[in-house]
Amino acid sequence: MSEHRPKRPSWDCLACTRPWPCDPAREELATELGRTSLAMYLFAYLNEAAGDMPSVTPGELYERFLAWTRTPGSGKSVGLPG
Ligand SMILES: [Zn+2]
Repeated sequence: MSEHRPKRPSWDCLACTRPWPCDPAREELATELGRTSLAMYLFAYLNEAAGDMPSVTPGELYERFLAWTRTPGSGKSVGLPG
């Protein structure tokens, strides 16, 4: 498994301490899961993160966990298979 996993309740990456999902985590998840499973997987994480970080708005959580899976080509994105 990846070293790039979320440390709760801060949701910083265990390996690189950046906000999870960090770039390496995104690439690994996208490669392992594919686009559809990826969104479902991250939505589950988004819900857990929302419980751990009540001060973070739903919009911020969406941007962090889900937006990058839906908008390849805008900003920082990884190449998603499929
Ligand atoms: Zn990381």
